[in-house]
Amino acid sequence: MGLRQPQRPTADEALQTLKDGNARFVAGKLEHPNHCEESRQSLATGQEPIATILSCADSRVPPVDIFDQGLGDLFVVRVAGNVIGDHTLGSIEYAVKHLHTPLVIVMGHSKCGAITAVASGVFLEGHIASIGPAIQTAIKDVKHLEGDLITNASKALARQISKKITESEPIIADMVKNGKVIITPAYYDIDSGVVRFLEP
Ligand SMILES: [Zn+2]
Repeated sequence: MGLRQPQRPTADEALQTLKDGNARFVAGKLEHPNHCEESRQSLATGQEPIATILSCADSRVPPVDIFDQGLGDLFVVRVAGNVIGDHTLGSIEYAVKHLHTPLVIVMGHSKCGAITAVASGVFLEGHIASIGPAIQTAIKDVKHLEGDLITNASKALARQISKKITESEPIIADMVKNGKVIITPAYYDIDSGVVRFLEP
């Protein structure tokens, strides 16, 4: 397939590219762009990903596939429950500040095992416990709402993490204020394959 675009997209253009790719994924009409040898070789000297994506480590939620993108297109940070800590936030800061991605997506998903585990109150042993607090906050915020608790908590968590990244000092908050980057929450439905972009 085609080579990468030399021009950097705006946040809106990047978002449209991802919406188009997800529509192809849902329709079963994948183009698998930028998987060819020329793409690989053109990336040997550097990368210009169009977006940064924080998603869950769940094997059913691979952003490059879900958005029908290819090599060098997405800077992907994955961790169970799509929560942030120093390493994940540092990775996002690097992508925004040094790779100039105009868009950061925080993507929660349906049937998230991490959220389900915390909601059910099971004991989180070892380092798994470090994922718990952020999820607990999200669950607390939506407990009173009607509808599926896990779905609501996943959306709330994506919004909360998105807000935390938007306000994070010292790098991203200034870049958001200066219009250099947009941070947006999203929700991926495993059954339908559809990614919905949420209001912040
Ligand atoms: Zn998950």
